[in-house]
Amino acid sequence: MGVEKVPKYNIPTKKVEYVFIELDKMKPHEQLVQKELEEFIESITGSGDFWKPMLLAKVPGEDMYLIVDGHHRWAGLEKLGAKKAPSVILDYFSDDVKVYTWYPAFKGDLNKVIERLKAEGLEVLEDKEAEEKAERGEIAFALVGKEKIFTVPGALNEQKKVSKVLDEMSVEGEIELIYYGLKEDAREDMGKGEIDYVFIRKAPGKEEVMELVKRGEVYSPKTTRHVLPFIPDKIDVKLEDLF
Ligand code: AMP
Repeated sequence: MGVEKVPKYNIPTKKVEYVFIELDKMKPHEQLVQKELEEFIESITGSGDFWKPMLLAKVPGEDMYLIVDGHHRWAGLEKLGAKKAPSVILDYFSDDVKVYTWYPAFKGDLNKVIERLKAEGLEVLEDKEAEEKAERGEIAFALVGKEKIFTVPGALNEQKKVSKVLDEMSVEGEIELIYYGLKEDAREDMGKGEIDYVFIRKAPGKEEVMELVKRGEVYSPKTTRHVLPFIPDKIDVKLEDLF
């Protein structure tokens, strides 16, 4: 998994109410990253303390909750045989909850990346209009560099393939992978030569996220970036109390 670069928001921490929600009432909206799952399991089994509540939102019309934040905590606890997790229930459609996306960027050899994307069956076409198309949600990604811009046609499945290729190439040390919270930061770093290319896509809307989970589908990792006006305070719950 790559490094994250997010804007400095200065979000205050806040003591919030949490409730225990059954793990089998939670629905993911993103694929998991194996390494993050392993790290969580190592941490929780090492300390025996669960300190970061899940962030959930009621799925309208279903007795289920969307996992807004906490995919690896959910999967990790399930794997350990736990039954429930301390959770903060959000009013998802309130203006307080914002959804943005992450922009994967890399430093490395463009030709190698294109080769690997093509090996997955993806097309990579030079296209000056790519960024506008990406922002309108018409293509999977625009691949934007200083001089060249490409279209990667497709939608959700193609985004998953791109994500898989980047993750693999990062693990192999072929590229340096950085996820940007803001396109502007990526552009600035590109100007400084810190990255070579950034993948741009349209951020999903909240309705889209809900529709996706209702269909039982998931996005690729780091498709959504949810921002709240607060960060929940740490809690002190024993792992053994989650069985
Ligand atoms: P995710 O559940 O997708 O947000 O990813 C795993 C998260 O678990 C990371 O954000 C870690 O900060 C968090 N984490 C690591 N160790 C613990 C722990 N012992 N209790 C609760 N959360 C943890």
